[in-house]
Amino acid sequence: MEELEFIHVSKEFKNKNETIQVLKGINGKIQKGTITTIIGPSGSGKSTILSLCNLLSTPTEGEIFIRGKEIREWDVQKLRCYVGIAFQSAPLIKGSALDNLILPAKLHGRTLEQPKKYMEYVGLSEDLLDRPAKELSGGQRQRLSLARTLVNDPSILLLDEVTSALDSISSHEVEELIKKLNHEHGTTILWVTHDLDQAKRVGDHTWLVLDGKLIEAGPTNELFEAPRERQTQQFLELKRNMR
Ligand code: ADP
Ligand code: MG
Repeated sequence: MEELEFIHVSKEFKNKNETIQVLKGINGKIQKGTITTIIGPSGSGKSTILSLCNLLSTPTEGEIFIRGKEIREWDVQKLRCYVGIAFQSAPLIKGSALDNLILPAKLHGRTLEQPKKYMEYVGLSEDLLDRPAKELSGGQRQRLSLARTLVNDPSILLLDEVTSALDSISSHEVEELIKKLNHEHGTTILWVTHDLDQAKRVGDHTWLVLDGKLIEAGPTNELFEAPRERQTQQFLELKRNMR
């Protein structure tokens, strides 16, 4: 069974007097334990796709199945434990690193047993637990925010440009730890990134989204080395020329 399936998913936003069609009939399947990288220009609808997967918003049309059950039939709390999301610069709360780690457990009525385990997992020293979150470096904050997402042991992890604010060393380190998570826990990962080299390095599968449409989906190597669609070829060509 697919872990995640989109069936003709559309999303529109209504402003005062216009309707913006942001996603247009997305069909796609994601297998358990895989990493799918989602690429496409800014404004093409990538973040919107992620936001639908844990009910931060709902589709205007179509259905999304997670473990065979339509998302709107899931209990929201349960869904958000099952599907975790991490953003580029996820806001940390005031207080210590530990306060930040405890938060998601609290929200789900749990206590956090082993904060050290999560710190260690993301390569942060346990000495930082008592430090005010605002004193951490950018790389440390990004790791902490990832650790915070991991506290509920999500089976599906949605990542939105999680390394784009980091220098290339920190960025590679975060990449490695996400790959480790995928390897060791079989976490299914949807990873939006504007960094095509990263999309290529970490992806098993890749989706190209242009103007709200899923233009091409396939094994990462094939999509980059032998794209089938003309629009994919054009997009990759454009990106190469921009270097
Ligand atoms: P991407 O992540 O690919 O850059 P987004 O999914 O953030 O793109 O946005 C796609 C389009 O949807 C953009 O044109 C954006 O302005 C619009 N959009 C996103 N969220 C909203 C919203 N809440 N209300 C109105 N328009 C929105
Ligand atoms: Mg986005």
